[in-house]
Amino acid sequence: MQRIGVFGGTFNPIHYGHLRIAQEVAEAFALSQVKFLPAAKPPLKAEPDVAAKHRAEMVQLAIAANPLFHLDTRELERIGLSYTIDTLISLHAEHPQDALCLIVGTDAFARFDQWHRWQSVLEYCHLIVVSRPHGGSLINLSEPLRQWLQQHQTHNITQLSQQSHGLIAIHDVTALDISSSQIRGLIRTQKNPAYLCPQAVIGYIQQHGLYRD
Ligand code: ATP
Ligand code: MG
Repeated sequence: MQRIGVFGGTFNPIHYGHLRIAQEVAEAFALSQVKFLPAAKPPLKAEPDVAAKHRAEMVQLAIAANPLFHLDTRELERIGLSYTIDTLISLHAEHPQDALCLIVGTDAFARFDQWHRWQSVLEYCHLIVVSRPHGGSLINLSEPLRQWLQQHQTHNITQLSQQSHGLIAIHDVTALDISSSQIRGLIRTQKNPAYLCPQAVIGYIQQHGLYRD
């Protein structure tokens, strides 16, 4: 049984916060690969102004040099909202022997009980929650979410290799207080987002005139 990282996001654009999380989680949980899945239509956010095709291209540029990282565009090919549960069902059908490990930041986890069929997610994967500076605390979780976390949380990483799904691990990663919103804001005000995301991504943004409004 291999463990496959599943990392969804708007990636509008992808930045070093995303990339570093994927690297650290891949190493800590001995993942065989991490799949980056840009959402076409995120259910809980306004639809991004930048087309999913551009966001996927930027992911591809950012991960190209890392053999552990793969772009997966299945959410772009689907019609309608990009529900993670649908993605997990389809990935599970392709990798029935493996353990899927869904990676989310604490800000996303704090709203997890708003996700479509959220409690069913653990039927298809483990959940790895990574710390995010200034992004969602695990202290003020809703009562259903708090109980769900309590029921499924493991403090022992090795347990994730003993079962194929159903566990939640909270994992500390290097705190990088970078967000896509910050990068979009910098570009809008004609500042340079250098060193917050890969230069190839910045080149793509310039070439296509993205985020200038
Ligand atoms: P935006 O500012 O547009 O919301 P974002 O930076 O939050 O963008 P997303 O694509 O929304 O990026 O995030 C995808 C996933 O990555 C989410 O689970 C989010 O919690 C996580 N994430 C993003 N940036 C960081 C970071 N700097 N540290 C930890 N987790 C992060
Ligand atoms: Mg976000």
